[in-house]
Amino acid sequence: MNLADPQAAAGLRTPIRHQLFIDGRFVDAESGETLATLNPHDNSTIAEVALAGRADVDKAVAAAERAFPAWSRMAAADRGRILLRLADLIDANTEELARLESLDTGHPLHDSRMLDVPRTAGCFRYFGGMADKFQGDVIPVEAGFLNYLLREPVGIVGQIVPWNFPLMFTSWKMAPALAAGNCVVMKPAEITPLSSLKIAELMSEAGLPDGVVNIVPGLGSVAGQYIAEHERIAKIAFTGSTATGRRIVQASAGNLKKVQLELGGKGANIVFDDANLAAAVNGSAWAIFHNQGQACIAGSRLLLHEKIADEFLDRFIALAGSIRLGNPLDAATEMGPLTSAQHRDRVLSYVAVAREEGGELLAGGKAPAASELARGCYVEPTIVRVKSERDRVAQEEVFGPFVTVLSFRDEAEALRIANGTDYGLGSGLWTRDLQRAHRFARDLHAGMVWINSYKRVNPGSPFGGVGRSGYGREMGFEAMREYTQVKSVWVNVDAQIPPWYPR
Ligand code: NAD
Repeated sequence: MNLADPQAAAGLRTPIRHQLFIDGRFVDAESGETLATLNPHDNSTIAEVALAGRADVDKAVAAAERAFPAWSRMAAADRGRILLRLADLIDANTEELARLESLDTGHPLHDSRMLDVPRTAGCFRYFGGMADKFQGDVIPVEAGFLNYLLREPVGIVGQIVPWNFPLMFTSWKMAPALAAGNCVVMKPAEITPLSSLKIAELMSEAGLPDGVVNIVPGLGSVAGQYIAEHERIAKIAFTGSTATGRRIVQASAGNLKKVQLELGGKGANIVFDDANLAAAVNGSAWAIFHNQGQACIAGSRLLLHEKIADEFLDRFIALAGSIRLGNPLDAATEMGPLTSAQHRDRVLSYVAVAREEGGELLAGGKAPAASELARGCYVEPTIVRVKSERDRVAQEEVFGPFVTVLSFRDEAEALRIANGTDYGLGSGLWTRDLQRAHRFARDLHAGMVWINSYKRVNPGSPFGGVGRSGYGREMGFEAMREYTQVKSVWVNVDAQIPPWYPR
């Protein structure tokens, strides 16, 4: 296989990294095994990527342990400076990173350039600035004592990243962990390892000491499972499916790891009859169709007030039909392929489920007809009017460009449907009624609520869910708390303590 071709075809200037990154060096897997990572546009092989096994994870943990004492005791501002340098390098490599991400995941190049890369740089920059601003407390305890709290890094942190936003999630996981002084063993998803390996290269350039970050692409069932079990990994942070999240909790029990889980969602997106309809139509399309719907916070359940349902749907269906599907590396493309053929098949299988359940297919439901897309993992924007909020397609996370529609009569019904799933990640509503907006913000079962917008994220704003959407929060001060543990230090300054055993 000629590995230079995909690089040239994607307009990449630098070689595609395809080895494990351990102790500051790119190395092959101990077993010599590799796994092909594919271009979802046509399922051609981009690169054969080294496949980490247990021995490689052990090597990565040992490297992290060697790096930990110096890294955790380095002045926080110095750690921050390295992350700030990394953020600048990411900005300077925007085009390279954007092309690589689009090639490996199917994200439209426009999105990779405008969202994935800037958000990745922004996250490292935010936590670079945070490193020396996150501080402990002094507790007003009894007279004569000083009691202060140290916020210490947890130690060696295992991080497991999914395939839907591999570049951005690399920063969401690593930036707070590193700012707080932890060392990292990170496993990207086996099907999308390339952008995190490129970040590793930039980390070395930014001056990150060897061993502080180790990246071990590998199978979830092998490398991922072993990271979750590992006796010398103190914390695990995971983003992915609820089923895998459960497995990770079980695997982590051996050494009682600290666990942080960002799992799936089935976001309600509620449009009231007083909403700005043009904004709601456009925002609702973005909520579900951005990144081909492969987002845990996708607005995948559209709830429409009965008075505006018909007009909204007319406009929404027309907009969905106008979205330009195409090769992600074409800058005009608005929707690319799903990230793998297996996942495309899974999404399309839900179209069959919808039909069995008596759902009405209002748009899409199939691969596009265009011959140039025939070898790729494409699915048209799909809109299904469901019969019942209890239908499987209205309850299970499809994770594709697949939105269910239901109408409601009043607030009470909208809230009941919105809260009627096991998930609780993000939800949103469109209304001009101020009181209603805040009532819903209070009453929605969710970790995040968007009012008159959807899917807003910012490195300062906590991100995470409730219920089967997981626990713990990424971003902001909350993330720094997740990646630190508190030590309470008591100092007898001048306390007069009567002796316990007077002699
Ligand atoms: P997954 O949960 O199996 O994979 C996510 C990550 O976990 C990958 O890096 C994978 O290698 C790893 N993994 C898998 N099994 C593991 C194990 N036993 N121990 C440790 N790590 C393991 O998700 P998937 O199969 O790729 O996708 C299936 C569904 O998961 C999707 O359709 C979607 O519903 C959901 N999902 C959600 C998100 C999210 O952002 N919340 C991301 C990806 C997938």
